[in-house]
Amino acid sequence: MTDLFKNNNPIHIVYDIDDVLADFWDTALPLFNKRFAIGGIPKLVIDDITGYNTFLDVYGINSDQFLEFVSTDVHLGKLKPTEYLQKMNYQYRCGHKISIVTSRDYIPDADSMTRLWLYDIGAMYHDLHISGKKKKSEFFSVGDVGLVYDDHSNNIDDYIDSGVLSGMAVIVDKPWNREYKRDGVLRYIYC
Ligand SMILES: [Mg+2]
Repeated sequence: MTDLFKNNNPIHIVYDIDDVLADFWDTALPLFNKRFAIGGIPKLVIDDITGYNTFLDVYGINSDQFLEFVSTDVHLGKLKPTEYLQKMNYQYRCGHKISIVTSRDYIPDADSMTRLWLYDIGAMYHDLHISGKKKKSEFFSVGDVGLVYDDHSNNIDDYIDSGVLSGMAVIVDKPWNREYKRDGVLRYIYC
């Protein structure tokens, strides 16, 4: 990691939002439990979320129901920021270029709502991209990104396999990515 910042050269750093800059599941899981953990369905804790499909199977819902519930009942504009906010702001103040990419296309006003949330939490960044169904790497050119933070292994693989990432990937440690290992990928655990 230290080599990335050698000679104090600015690099391009890319952050994911949900479960990286924003504590999505801390807010969402109690709401899901309240709605869906009924009729003998157990309440889930964060360590139970080892995969998206596993999560859906336990509650007996499909992907559309999941996204509809998130868009109507989980107030993304009120999510708590994580420790990564301070890290990102520090990197911004050090002169690095900061981009933020989030899928979130299932929310009608995703761009404006997310920009307002970033303003409210005091985020310092240059660009925001709502990726939707696009691969996150599609917003950047080959070799353009020096450091990326994400909690989903498929996104990390995309940044690497596309050639967009020229430096280091950080996977933010979560129950759904614990099995993931890849050369050049650091695992970050905040405590
Ligand atoms: Mg995420």
